[in-house]
Amino acid sequence: MNITKEFWFQAAHRLETHDGPCSKLHGHGYRVVIELEGDIEIRENHYSLGMVKDYGRISHAMKSIIDENLDHRFLVAAGQGAPSLRLANLMKAIGEEEYSVLPIKATTAEEIARWILRMAQQEMGRLVVACTVHETNTTSARIDGWQVKASQ
Ligand SMILES: [Zn+2]
Repeated sequence: MNITKEFWFQAAHRLETHDGPCSKLHGHGYRVVIELEGDIEIRENHYSLGMVKDYGRISHAMKSIIDENLDHRFLVAAGQGAPSLRLANLMKAIGEEEYSVLPIKATTAEEIARWILRMAQQEMGRLVVACTVHETNTTSARIDGWQVKASQ
């Protein structure tokens, strides 16, 4: 059985190396869909009887990931080396409460989806099988758990 739950966050980013308008500072209302797969709980009187996982517990885990790292932040990718002078100046100007440096190569929907999936798996284990990040109404990136290599 598979279940999903959706979350939203607002964030700014720029794609440092992109050859187009995405290299400029801009923002998105991101929609995240997390998918879990597992057996339905059958223990009588257990809090999650009839569920794969309590949606409230999914919300609790996901909200800490999103609220502490992504929501209303300027997202910066750590994995592309030292920040350019322009980026470093921008980060200094807004202050560290307003940006978040993520261990990804670029702040694309693909990389953010992979990072969220890894974080969700750390919080909820291997029940978490996929994550989709919608950057706009027409674009999204989905990653399945089997596509995440241990080294990434
Ligand atoms: Zn963008």
